[in-house]
Amino acid sequence: MRLRRASRAIRIGDVTVGGGAPVVVQSMAKTDTRNVKATIDQIKGLEECGCQLVRVAVPDREAAEAIPAIKQGINIPLIADIHFDYRLALMAIEGGVDGLRINPGNIQDEEQIAQIVRAAKEREVPIRIGVNAGSLFRPGRRHLEKQESTIANQMVNAALEQIELFEKLDFELIKVALKAFDVPTTIEANRAIADKMPYPIHLGITEAGTPKKGVIRSAVGIGILLHDGIGDTIRVSLSGDSHEEVIAGYEILKSLDLSQRGPTLISCPSCGRAEVDIVALANAVEERLARLEKPIKVAVMGCVVNGPGEARDADVGIACGKGRGVIFRKGEQVRTVEEKDFLEALMAEIEAL
Ligand code: SF4
Repeated sequence: MRLRRASRAIRIGDVTVGGGAPVVVQSMAKTDTRNVKATIDQIKGLEECGCQLVRVAVPDREAAEAIPAIKQGINIPLIADIHFDYRLALMAIEGGVDGLRINPGNIQDEEQIAQIVRAAKEREVPIRIGVNAGSLFRPGRRHLEKQESTIANQMVNAALEQIELFEKLDFELIKVALKAFDVPTTIEANRAIADKMPYPIHLGITEAGTPKKGVIRSAVGIGILLHDGIGDTIRVSLSGDSHEEVIAGYEILKSLDLSQRGPTLISCPSCGRAEVDIVALANAVEERLARLEKPIKVAVMGCVVNGPGEARDADVGIACGKGRGVIFRKGEQVRTVEEKDFLEALMAEIEAL
């Protein structure tokens, strides 16, 4: 794994992004922002599963007017997602958001952008320049006109052009995101921009799909870039529950040793050697572990081939055999249990830790 790319640190509320800070997991509320209660409830749920930054869509004035009340009801920093109408960005800043996201080209008037930037600067509100491949091709877009290069290059150019404008306005509280549905395009774009500017990078595969497929696309795209040392914050975009986005985000980080949050389950896939229902046991353990925040390693193994080794290596593990299983804790064999007691005995050892 490469050394992490050096990026400038910015503060979004009380969360540091970039500058070597741990990679931040974020998500986006899926409620109608105008419905303050539903939005607060959803964000509270996201906070519980470890979401560190949350974005809300601000499509109109009513949504912008809801921001102060939403801010008051939540504990994590709030980012307003703004397109087309610069006045909504000004309202969001006035309403107390901790960050803004704008898509280059969706607000084309430089004076309008300057107004947003001046207001953001005054309140020290960072702005994410968030390029989506899909929005490059909207009719009337400036970037469309000089196209001979790849989509990734066009994304990079769109972001660099906006960065240049921000810098001209003496604004450097910038975060950059280049997202596409296509994983190789996202990787190419982020690799290309990584050494062309010093700002932190937000990673994601946009419109990645339903949880089953979207988690895989995201893990591949985000994972490869993180392994390259690129990325200061991530979002897994799923057509599904936002909680799943956060859980998947942490799993990606954990798989690269970039986060220690929550338990890690090592479970064997089962095979013809297994003499117990290891799949059911692994799923039951995973469900129970979902409530824990401690970074604990748990192994659920089906037989003596790899079982004792993995179980011994974990904080708590079970190596199953015919009707019985041996439980290990911190490398020591602690007890042998009957099949009917596997789950409860394992959980008792975990809780004892
Ligand atoms: S640990 Fe045993 S049961 Fe599980 S997959 Fe490996 S050989 Fe099969």
